[in-house]
Amino acid sequence: NDQKKFLLDSIRDIPDFPKPGILFKDITTLLNNAEAFSLLMNHLEERYKEFNLDFIAGIESRGFIFGSALAAKLGIGFVPIRKKNKLPFTTISEKYALEYGVDEVEIHIDAFREKKGARVLLIDDLIATGGTAEAAAKLIKAANAECVEACFIINLTFLDGRKKLDELTSVYSILEI
Ligand code: 5GP
Repeated sequence: NDQKKFLLDSIRDIPDFPKPGILFKDITTLLNNAEAFSLLMNHLEERYKEFNLDFIAGIESRGFIFGSALAAKLGIGFVPIRKKNKLPFTTISEKYALEYGVDEVEIHIDAFREKKGARVLLIDDLIATGGTAEAAAKLIKAANAECVEACFIINLTFLDGRKKLDELTSVYSILEI
C-alpha cells in the first residue's frame, strides 16, 4: 500500500557496497526522515504491544537503532547481540558461516536477568541469507529465553533467509524485496 511504498522509497540503494556486485539497502535515509521513522516505529509498536514481550534483542548495529527505540516505546528492556569480543561481561557465543569464512555473535550470559522463559523479540534491519539471525535466535535460547518472533524491516526474499529460522521462531518483515 501507500505507506509501504513511502517507507521503501525512503531507503536508498547503494551499488557496489561494501563490495563490487552488492546492492546495499541504506536505511540511514529512513532514519533521518522523521515521517518515515515515526511511521515505522508506530507500526511496530501497534504490532508488538499485544505480544506480552519481556525484552527486545537487537543485532549489531542497525538492529540496535530499531530495537532500542521500540523497547522504549513498549516500556521493556533492550538486549544487545554483538559481534565477538565487544561485550564486556561473560558471554555465550555462536558461530555462523559467511560466504567466505565464519563470523561470531555474542550475548551476555545474564542478558535476560535470570527470568527463565522470558519472551523476547529479535530485531534487525535486514535479513539476507539468514545466517546472522539464526545465530542470534540460538543465543536467545542458550540464554534461557524464548525467541517469540524475529522482525526485520527488510527481507531480501530471493535469498530465502527465513528458512533458516523456521525451526527456531516465527518471522515477520515489513518490506519484501
Ligand atoms: P545475513 O546474515 O542474513 O546474510 O545478513 C544480514 C546481516 O547483514 C544483517 O545484520 C544486516 O544488517 C546486514 N546486511 C546485509 N546486507 C545488507 C543491506 O543491503 N543493507 C543493510 N542495511 N544491511 C545489510
